[in-house]
Amino acid sequence: MKDLAEIAELVSKCQDCPLHLSRIKAVPGEGPENAKILFIGEGPGFHENQQGRPFVGQAGKFLDELLSVSGLKRETVFITNIVKCRPPGNRDPQPQELEACAKYLDRQIEIINPEIIVTLGRFSMAKFFGQVKISQIHGNIKKIAGKYVVAMYHPAAALHQPALKNTLLDDFAKLKNYMFQVNTENKIKENNSQKYNPFVAEKDEEDKPTQLSLF
Ligand code: URA
Ligand code: SF4
Repeated sequence: MKDLAEIAELVSKCQDCPLHLSRIKAVPGEGPENAKILFIGEGPGFHENQQGRPFVGQAGKFLDELLSVSGLKRETVFITNIVKCRPPGNRDPQPQELEACAKYLDRQIEIINPEIIVTLGRFSMAKFFGQVKISQIHGNIKKIAGKYVVAMYHPAAALHQPALKNTLLDDFAKLKNYMFQVNTENKIKENNSQKYNPFVAEKDEEDKPTQLSLF
């Protein structure tokens, strides 16, 4: 799996779990390869299965609104799901389906190498956080295996529980700040690595950044 196009091609023909039986179109995910932020939902629903694109139904409309409050343009982020084919009747993906499909998402994460991963809902959250309660960790940022991850409620949850709508809006509003902080941290790291590179000229004392501890 050398690039995102090859992953999409493999996913469209994959028969590694029973979900290929309910597939009309596979939904590998979409967005630029250099996206700084990666959103991971649960699995394609009815409309996604028809169109082969993630988050195009009702939940997708709300996701668009959430992206706009965080100042993010949809076309600049990568959006995918933990399983790439539609679970029939929108049932939960089963453990063997999650396991069979993990190789595609893992490779997408390697290729995109995002600064922040945002999980949408319980299943993508569990991949990073294990068995935790979403009510206790939503909206917080945590470094897990070298990657910053934020767990959010699934946008569809707010369609059933209106109280979650404001929670999601508040949590997404934090993303801009997280992006800024992670970006600053990366710049400091780059700067420090140049400092120890004997082939790069030493910087003046005043130029040296102070190390920020943000999380
Ligand atoms: N819900 C998801 O989790 N993913 C989609 O792509 C659409 C709805
Ligand atoms: Fe393959 Fe994933 Fe589709 Fe299952 S859900 S058939 S593992 S691409």
